Amino acid sequence: DGSRELLLSRIQDVPDYPKPGVMFKDITPLLADGKAFSVLTDALTEICREQDAQKVVGLEARGFILGAPVAVRAGIGFVPVRKAGKLPGGTLGQAYDLEYGTAEIEIHADALQPGDRVLVIDDVLATGGTAEASVQLIRRAGGTVTGLAVLLELGFLAGRTRVERALDGAPLAAL
Ligand code: IMP
Repeated sequence: DGSRELLLSRIQDVPDYPKPGVMFKDITPLLADGKAFSVLTDALTEICREQDAQKVVGLEARGFILGAPVAVRAGIGFVPVRKAGKLPGGTLGQAYDLEYGTAEIEIHADALQPGDRVLVIDDVLATGGTAEASVQLIRRAGGTVTGLAVLLELGFLAGRTRVERALDGAPLAAL
């Protein structure tokens, strides 16, 4: 129905950002277009309903922007997964490897009830490292991951393979 084309037309390729040789997918034009943002929110909300999710977990930072309106439309709560050191309460942390070095993400230890059905939302899946670590973290916090939804999957097959392994049968939805 043209919604995929609309969304893709609002994603801007930015060469050499954040460093030379990288083609960055900038979603800010999509966010700035009320129609496109709403179409995307509807599509993600549909996935949320199909999976009967009870919480949306958004990954810092663009996963917050995409995930929060989905939680509101679905009538369920939103839980942030943040970079280490940003959450004020008691946290669980998960470290993961980057191209150079490591990173750590955190969730509030009491953010999920045991068995809570969780849909994870982020903007872009690249190597899959962030998504994989998030799935592991959510499980340790007691959640059941029903799926991962991203706006864009970059062409790294290794990313999908890695995340599918972590998802253990739960679906990975990309535009
Ligand atoms: P991964 O861990 O390598 O899969 O990288 C995914 C994370 O990096 C996500 O949280 C994205 O927001 C971010 N990211 C990687 N590449 C891009 C891009 O081209 N545009 C926007 N975000 C990106």
